[in-house]
Amino acid sequence: MTAGPRPVDVLVIGGGQAGLAAGYYLRRAKADFVILDAQDSVGGAWRHAWDSLRLFSPAQYSSLPGRMMPIPPGGGYPSAAEVVAYLTDYERRYDLPVLRPVTVNAVRRGDGRLLVETGHGTWQAKAVVSATGTWWRPYIPYYPGLRDFGGEHLHTAGYRGPEPLRGKRVVIVGGGNSAAQLLAELTAVAEVTWVTQRPPRLLPDDIDGRVLFDLATRRHRATQAGEQAGEPAAGIADLGDIVAVPPVREARDRGVLKAEPMFTHITPGGVAWADGSTLACDVILWCTGFRPALSHLAPLGLRGPDGLIPTRGTRAVGEPRLHLLGYGDWTGPASATLIGAGRTARQMVAEITAQR
Ligand code: FAD
Repeated sequence: MTAGPRPVDVLVIGGGQAGLAAGYYLRRAKADFVILDAQDSVGGAWRHAWDSLRLFSPAQYSSLPGRMMPIPPGGGYPSAAEVVAYLTDYERRYDLPVLRPVTVNAVRRGDGRLLVETGHGTWQAKAVVSATGTWWRPYIPYYPGLRDFGGEHLHTAGYRGPEPLRGKRVVIVGGGNSAAQLLAELTAVAEVTWVTQRPPRLLPDDIDGRVLFDLATRRHRATQAGEQAGEPAAGIADLGDIVAVPPVREARDRGVLKAEPMFTHITPGGVAWADGSTLACDVILWCTGFRPALSHLAPLGLRGPDGLIPTRGTRAVGEPRLHLLGYGDWTGPASATLIGAGRTARQMVAEITAQR
């Protein structure tokens, strides 16, 4: 005899920061819920970040609801390892029911409930929260010759530190924070060329994650008050794209933070531009971002033409029992950040529990 699907009121997919923030509010609401996470242990994407990664905002601006992230000894911005330690403590402190490692393969519509299929059996839930992040879907844009390159393609998702690249000729692609931070540390050990689609724009030194979060907060409040939400975000975009964290400032002061225009194609030995100029390299380091990890939701057929699932707040427009948390601004202002995930989770759980 096989057991039928296990019933639960709310099932959260993903036990990273967003899933834990959802768990905090579900626990407070005394909801019947479970969190399924594909990892062996706590930390989500932070467990896989490169060793030197520092948050771009201080601990008090990088905390989940209920518990402040400890200020690192000696001050400064927390490291990825400190975030993992914080999330580990957080999950334990609030006794969050996370099952690991459990990978969700598919979510389907069942009889009045959503069916969640995993490698460890099927669940049936009244509401499902997808909080699977983006780290698991690194994005590399297509350029002609991409597959003919004889060197190594490396994405930020696979980068752990500079040592394996020592002495190599590296082309770094991308105009954001990851590219600038990796450039800063790689210029010390490798021959680096930085290419970007448009000239890189550093934020002023006095603007860090705090200001970004304050702007996101104002935007959030404006959204809640029903006002036009676009302006503060547009304001910050005018200032620049890259937070001048200490290693980036130091690289700027060394004069190495200079980018070439984007190449137009890739050759077996390197990269090339439309004017015929070429550059030989051993490694192309793609700091070109991530896409939401949504393949488990494919059976619901909800994706729009842009590959995203249309939402109203966190709720999927085409499936009211499904919420999306984290991922990016389309599921809530700054919801892919530590502080933003909590804010969005609070509203989401209020919506879910109001329906019980
Ligand atoms: P994740 O951390 O990716 O967690 C998702 C979890 O879901 C994982 O454990 C994963 O294994 C699991 N999962 C995925 N698919 C399935 C499945 N099918 N079934 C079961 N489980 C699944 N934010 C800040 O606030 N401050 C910063 O300074 C900052 N710096 C950043 C720097 C970099 C380089 C990057 C990439 C991000 C940074 N962020 C920062 C953004 C953000 O905090 C992280 O991206 C964060 O990890 C997102 O959390 P999450 O819980 O949404 O996703």
